[in-house]
Amino acid sequence: MIGRIDHVGIAVKNLEEAIRVWEGLGLKVEEIEEVPDQKVRTAVIHVGESRIELLEGTSEDSPISKFIAKRGEGIHHIALGVDNIEEHLRKLKEAGYRLIDEKPRVGAGGAKIAFVHPKSVTGVLLELCEREE
Ligand code: ZN
Repeated sequence: MIGRIDHVGIAVKNLEEAIRVWEGLGLKVEEIEEVPDQKVRTAVIHVGESRIELLEGTSEDSPISKFIAKRGEGIHHIALGVDNIEEHLRKLKEAGYRLIDEKPRVGAGGAKIAFVHPKSVTGVLLELCEREE
């Protein structure tokens, strides 16, 4: 089951600068975390049931740094919260969606995450995200 939009990932050049901008809107950053596996630092903003994740690349070859070099700052991906990520990945693969991750990996906050290629989702980089809550 797909429960909600878990978060929207936003690629930023400078995390501290981005935090200032987003907190200026009246929101509050609750966690800052480095995810070495994805070469990013994230700042998480809770908005009701959903979140905004600000993402800063920690090296030139980080997917976020590459995205910004190509397209500038902006919305990087949308994450749907799911209850059984392995099952979802299996179904999507069967249905012909192009998976970037065939198996889930560990993302910010210890969630299980997997990406689906934008070429098979109307140009949107889609993340599936399963949290233990
Ligand atoms: Zn994400």
